[in-house]
Amino acid sequence: MNPPLTYTMSPLDRAVMIRGDLARVQALLTGGNARILPMWNQQHLVDEEPRLRFLTYEEAATASILSDAALVFLGLADETPWFALGLPNTDAPPDFAIRGTFKTPADVVALLPGEEASLMAYARAMILWHQNHRHCGRCGAQTDMTEAGHSRTCTSPACGNRTFPRTDPVVITLITHRDKSGEEKCLLGRQAKFPPGMYSCVAGFVEAGETLEAAVRREAAEETGVVVGDVRYVASQPWPFPASLMLGFRADALTTEIHRDDEELEDCRWFSKADLRNAGERDSNGPGLKLPNRFAIARFLIEGWLAT
Ligand SMILES: [Zn+2]
Repeated sequence: MNPPLTYTMSPLDRAVMIRGDLARVQALLTGGNARILPMWNQQHLVDEEPRLRFLTYEEAATASILSDAALVFLGLADETPWFALGLPNTDAPPDFAIRGTFKTPADVVALLPGEEASLMAYARAMILWHQNHRHCGRCGAQTDMTEAGHSRTCTSPACGNRTFPRTDPVVITLITHRDKSGEEKCLLGRQAKFPPGMYSCVAGFVEAGETLEAAVRREAAEETGVVVGDVRYVASQPWPFPASLMLGFRADALTTEIHRDDEELEDCRWFSKADLRNAGERDSNGPGLKLPNRFAIARFLIEGWLAT
């Protein structure tokens, strides 16, 4: 049985009804119980274990970091309110030495408890959205944070346009085919930027006006030349780098000949289950086939297929 997907185990009630009540959010922030997750230069505060470290309101206020930072109300875990704090991207990290160090998700995600990795992803997605949407897409005026960080509103009275945190859907698909001898194989490709030997599932952004199923078929055709028939949804995974939602599918190939038209992949092959069972981990040394990290949905799809 597959372990749960990384980034999908948030312990929070998002408490949507509270967001619009500024006085209530302020009371949750200052009430002595708040846990504040800071992000600086796309890095997150962790201790040595590593576990996610949070600041209390008092610590954040003492460090004078609340005034020019983006503070987002994330929700409640039992009665505990959680916030994300987007610090200015200064050259030197803020001085939280006693409480931990700033690390990238790649440095810590494999080691964090699932609930903490999910909190980190949610906080990260919200802060990156604020940092990338300071101006109105309609009129170009500045925007201000509204609804405790869950929307931004244009400051031009003539405009008043309101925008919401965006999520960019990406389809990622394990394509399989059973040959005449009855052996099942799956189609994996590699981008030039992957570590040597690593292959992964076919993936790409969903385009405007397109269904998920059409996106699966289009990406398969563009990247591999393989024609895909039946498409089945498996699972989804938030992927805040910066704003993706990975939508995992299984699909049946109608053809097997490979040609790489868009050159996004530098190689693409059919692999047997035995090939994949003998493969190494993404970051392992040595030659041979390697699989994506265990926290990626690509690996989840592969392991699910191997288990059948
Ligand atoms: Zn505007």
